This record gives sequence, structure tokens and C-alpha cells, in this order.
Amino acid sequence: MAADSTEPQPTGAPPAEGAATTPAGATTTEPPKKFPKGVVLGKDGKPCRSCTSFASWAAQTKSSLKASAAPPPQPKDCPPDVEALGRSTWTLLHSIAATYPPAPTPREQADLTSFMRLFSKLYPCWVCAEDFQRYMEKREVRAQSRDAFGTWLCEAHNEVNRKLGKPEFDCGRWEERWRTGWKDGSCD
Ligand SMILES: Cc1cc2nc3c(=O)[nH]c(=O)nc-3n(C[C@H](O)[C@H](O)[C@H](O)COP(=O)(O)OP(=O)(O)OC[C@H]3O[C@@H](n4cnc5c(N)ncnc54)[C@H](O)[C@@H]3O)c2cc1C
Repeated sequence: MAADSTEPQPTGAPPAEGAATTPAGATTTEPPKKFPKGVVLGKDGKPCRSCTSFASWAAQTKSSLKASAAPPPQPKDCPPDVEALGRSTWTLLHSIAATYPPAPTPREQADLTSFMRLFSKLYPCWVCAEDFQRYMEKREVRAQSRDAFGTWLCEAHNEVNRKLGKPEFDCGRWEERWRTGWKDGSCD
């Protein structure tokens, strides 16, 4: 929601212009502040770096930056913004799918299911985490096999892609992308 408003705002989607997103029920004793477009607030009411793109982050930290100015390139050794965190996390999750057994034991299935449940609670971008938890309530993790989990994860990733207006990935090719490399040999 807007930093100076009490109206809730849909989570996950980039906040409206001139608005910041705050967690539901967050309280702060400080007077409301205006934040540039896209800045998401954390549970403490302060800007949340891992929920915000670097361009929006830089716009609120560097007062000389105009909203219309081209975003500066992000240095490699800064704390991750929402995109860098997302890319690294998807790499980890799809790689877990790629190395998950084709025929897991009941213990392995239980471990994967509890890992995903905890992951969805601990993900540092809270708006992303809340949407992902909601997704997992509707679509239970499928841990019965490598292919079942890899496809479930690909569909979950596509749900986020759709929300962000990104192209959907062909889930028939998740293993090529994350385990075997493309059939044309370009990863060999
Ligand atoms: C659980 C989770 C929730 C997120 N929620 C939000 C959110 O609410 N708001 C937000 O702004 N950002 C969110 N993100 C981050 C977002 O998904 C992207 O990671 C980020 O925008 C960077 O996108 P990207 O275009 O570099 O590619 P990414 O989406 O990070 O994908 C990385 C690579 O994975 C491959 N890929 C793409 N789609 C699929 C798929 N369906 N299956 C398999 N492989 C695929 C492609 O090769 C792509 O280059 C979330 C990330 C995670 C892990």
C-alpha cells in the first residue's frame, strides 16, 4: 500500500507510481514518507531492498536521480535487489529439482515438502513470499518424482512470470534448461 495510505495493495505486483508497498498491519511511529515508484516497504516500515528493483532503490537513495533518468548499472557486490535475488533463487530451486531422485523415498519426499514450506515462509522478499505461499495452498508441492517436482516448480515459476508480464516457459523443456542442457548441444 502507499506509504501514507491505509488501503491494502495487491502483493507481488510492482507498486503504483509514487507509492510504496507496506506489509499488512505494519505500524510505525515515524511520520509517513513518500517513496519513489516501485519501492516496497519491509515489515519494519522501512524500504525493503530484497523486495525492490535496484533502479527504484537507487532512485530513493540518490536524491539527485530523477524518476525519468536511466537506471544506473548495479555494482556486482551490492546486496541483492528483487531481481538478482529471484534469479539466484530460481537457479537454486530448479537445480534442486534437477538433482532430486527420479524415485525418491518417502523421507526424501517429506524433506522436499518441508523445505518448500519453510522456503516460502523465509523468502526475503515478503510480498513475493506471501504470493508464493498462497500459490502453494492452491497447488500442493508434487514431490513424488523428479519430473513431478520439476514440472510443479516450472508451473510455479510461470505463475510469477505471468504476474510480472514475462513470457511463460515451456515446462516440457525444464530438464533441458536445468539438468541436461539444450538438445542442440549449446551447453556441452
Ligand atoms: C518464489 C519467488 C517469487 C517471486 N515473486 C516475485 C514477485 O512477486 N515480484 C517480483 O518482482 N519478483 C518476484 N520474484 C523474482 C522474479 O521471479 C525474477 O526472478 C526476477 O524478476 C528476475 O527475472 P529474470 O527475467 O532475470 O528471470 P527469472 O524469472 O529469474 O528466471 C531465471 C531463468 O529461469 C528460466 N525460466 C524462466 N521461467 C521458467 C520456468 N517457468 N521454469 C523453468 N525455468 C524458467 C529462464 O531461463 C530464466 O532466464 C520471485 C522469485 C521467486 C524465487
